[in-house]
Formats: sequence, structure tokens, C-alpha cells
Amino acid sequence: MPIATVNPANGETIKTYDALSEEETERRLATAESTFRTYRTSSFDERARLLRRAADLLDEDTDAVARVMTTEMGKPVGQARAEAAKCAKAMRWYADHAAELLADEEPDESDVKDSGASRVLVRYRPLGPVLAVMPWNFPLWQVIRFAAPALMAGNVGLLKHASNVPQTALYLEDLFHRAGFPEGCFQTLLIGSGAVEGVLRDPRVRAATLTGSEPAGRSVASVAGDEVKKTVLELGGSDPYIVMPSADIDRAAKTAVTARVQNTGQSCIAAKRFIVHTDVFDAFAERFTEGMKALKVGDPMKEETDVGPLSSKQGRRDLEELVVDAVEGGATVLCGGVRAEGPGWYYPPTVLTGVTREMRVHREEAFGPVATLYRVADLDEAVAVANDSPFGLSSNVWTRDATEVDRFVRDLEAGGVYVNGMTASHPAFPFGGAKRSGYGRELSGHGIREFCNITTVWHGA
Ligand code: NAP
Repeated sequence: MPIATVNPANGETIKTYDALSEEETERRLATAESTFRTYRTSSFDERARLLRRAADLLDEDTDAVARVMTTEMGKPVGQARAEAAKCAKAMRWYADHAAELLADEEPDESDVKDSGASRVLVRYRPLGPVLAVMPWNFPLWQVIRFAAPALMAGNVGLLKHASNVPQTALYLEDLFHRAGFPEGCFQTLLIGSGAVEGVLRDPRVRAATLTGSEPAGRSVASVAGDEVKKTVLELGGSDPYIVMPSADIDRAAKTAVTARVQNTGQSCIAAKRFIVHTDVFDAFAERFTEGMKALKVGDPMKEETDVGPLSSKQGRRDLEELVVDAVEGGATVLCGGVRAEGPGWYYPPTVLTGVTREMRVHREEAFGPVATLYRVADLDEAVAVANDSPFGLSSNVWTRDATEVDRFVRDLEAGGVYVNGMTASHPAFPFGGAKRSGYGRELSGHGIREFCNITTVWHGA
């Protein structure tokens, strides 16, 4: 894939970039390593001061960087501004909490005595340069949720961003530079996916994190496995959204629309499969479909737009193929399903029902504004349909029955269960998946400790 900014709203190529030469990549790896040697000794206070400065700069840049994101990947510009604000918040959260999250721990005195020690400490030390392979769908947020904890822990970052968001990638490098981080703390490598293996095998790179599709995750994890390097994988999702009879159906249907079409439906944690109890199925389906039909699809630079274009022509083709496959297999289209002609990679909000296990959309991730509705007889069937997916990122359940909540929390195979609401990440809560949605966690204390060398310091009596 060429490294280029191509506007998804009209297909126009705005700027292309040459990939880094091998020599330049080597120079950047050397800089990362030498910077790490000194940066690792900096204090939490110093790192926090720099990260807060970066957050302030990002706040100042919000309008401009939001327009860059919208131009590169088509998200409605208001959502782009919200993404920038969320990044600044996460940076401040890690600036405020990293010292406490990574403070030395003293094990139980009885265990210390039992080991023959006078004192034992568990210390969180940084690993070194970490490679981050990132996707375009939240081009700032995906990077910041890696970079803020990694930098606070004393690691340095190497970003290989998706090839269609080079300007956002370069903006991020510039942001950390302007904030005062030493050169080499955060570098953007403009390289294609084919060059990732070489960088990952380099002994100076100590670990990798990838957010993206399952094939990309498998590829990076197998190279890292071969090199015995730690990885965190945040991959795809096809999150269930379960609605039970006791739910507030109006609120559930209204929230369902946002949960499905946020970021034009191109979100790993978007609700994608709507699993509804038969007693409330018709009421929910009607309100949800009305909500999907009422969305404004159009120019993502306009404030009133709810749904912009998909990020690429290929992305739209993939989505359309899932819908065609379902319709040919007998699914019913409640709205959308036919793409409008004209420039830009738009696809209308679409609701499908009558989806069966044989259809691709049942097993694969619909990365765009396409929802599937399932009618279920009871809670057991709801859980069975929800878990009948290779993915296990997050899940949403709507019920006012506490016993049902307990059952869902116990049985749903996912890294999150959001009750009477939609999945949304927050810097203080762990984020990540089960099954083919990946492993490891981002955000919270769990996220910052993923790339630490957890060291036992033992003192003899
Ligand atoms: P993608 O095609 O997998 O690309 C993600 C990143 O991986 C890009 O930087 C890409 O580079 C690189 N890449 C692709 N193939 C690679 C390979 N074989 N070796 C090394 N690097 C490779 O995914 P995407 O289309 O950008 O993003 C959409 C996917 O990300 C969806 O499945 C979505 O659910 C998932 N996602 C997951 C989360 C989460 O937290 N779980 C969050 C957001 C998105 P190029 O651009 O140069 O190909």
C-alpha cells in the first residue's frame, strides 16, 4: 500500500510519501537505543511534565489536527475533535498516575522472612524501544494509548502507523518533539507493512504492540515469537449488544445507533451484532431501524454529518461483499444495503435481519455501518449467539434484572461487559480482548505494566 493521504470523501490523492530508506531506518533505531539509555533514568516528575506539555499542545492544535484526521480517513470532524480531547485527557491521566502505578511494591513481611531476606522490593523498570504498529481508524487515540503509558514507564516508542494516515503519524512525532521529549523518545517510521519484520527482528527493539486486523496481528506475533519478544495485540471485534425484556427499549435503541455507527462503524468496539429477546424484538427493531435511517450521511467536514465515507475503496468493497453474501443467503434488509453512486467511499447505514450461521457477516467483522439483528428466545440463547463468534473484544447488555447481569458477566466471552450502556474506553479501565480479539491489556495500571521488566530486588539478612 502506498504511503499517502487520499481523501475518502472524494478519492483525491493529496500527498504521497517515500518510505524511509534502510539507512534512515537504521539511524532512527540507533537514536531510539541511545536515547533510551538516558531517558530511562529520568524521573516520573520530569516525564509527567513533558507529557502534560504535549497534552496542552494537543489541546491548542485540536481543530487543525482534527481536520487532518478527517481528510486522511474520513471521520466526521466533530468526532475527530473529540478524539483529540480524549488523547489529551489520557496523557494527563498517565502523567498524574504513573508514579503511583509503577511504585515499588513490598511483598508481605511473612513471605519476605520466609525467603530469608531482610527486604524485598518489586520494581517496574522499562524494557527499551517498543515498536507500535497502529491502524487508521482512531489515528491519534490508538497511538496515544500506547505512547502515554510507554513514555511514562521510561520506554521509548517507534511508530509504524497505517499507510493512509502519514500526516497524522508525522504530527504525533512533531507533538512529542515540541513538548520537549528528547529526540528519539518518540519516532515515526514511515515504512510499509513489509518492512515491519526487519524492524521487529532488530535486537534493539525489545517489544511490540499491534492494533489492527487478525492477519496483521498473527504476522507480527509470529515474528515476535520467533525472536522471543513480548507483544500486546488489540485485534478485531464483532461485539454483541444484547437487549432483554426488562430494558429501557427507547434508550437501548437510541444508544444502539451510536454504538453501531460511531466512527462510521469502523470501530473495533462498535456493537455489531444486536441480539434481542423475542418479547421486545419488534419494538427494538423498529426504533433502531428508524434511528439508523435518520442519520445524516455526507461530507465529514460538515458539523451536522453523522456518518462519513469509509476510509478506503477496499474497505467499502469488503463491507458490501458481506451484505451481498447475507442477502443472497436469505437475510432481510430493513434499511440501506445499496450504495449510492457518486464520488467518495460512502455506504449507507444498513440493518440486516434473518442472519444465519452460514453467512459471512455472522463470523466476520463488519467494519462499517452495517448491523445484524438476531431474535432469541431467552438468556441462554442470547449468550450462545453472543459467544458464537471468533472474537471476544467487548459486549453490551441491556437489562434491569440483577440476576441476568450476573449471568452475562459470568458467561460472555469478552474483555468487557457494559451494562445498560455502550462500550467506551477510559484511561483508568483496562482495555483488551479475549479469543481472536487479541491478548494483553492497554490503559489503566494493567496497560502501563505490559511493557515493564518486573524486577525482584532481594536483600539478604
Ligand atoms: P490492518 O490492515 O491490520 O493494519 C493495521 C496496521 O498493521 C497498519 O499499520 C498496517 O500497515 C499494519 N500491517 C498490516 N499487515 C501487516 C503485516 N502483515 N505485518 C506487519 N504490519 C502489518 O488493520 P486496519 O484495516 O488498519 O484496521 C482495522 C482493524 O483494526 C479492524 O479489524 C479493527 O477491529 C482493528 N482494531 C482493533 C482495535 C482494538 O483495540 N482491538 C482498535 C482499533 C482497530 P499498512 O497500513 O501499511 O498496511
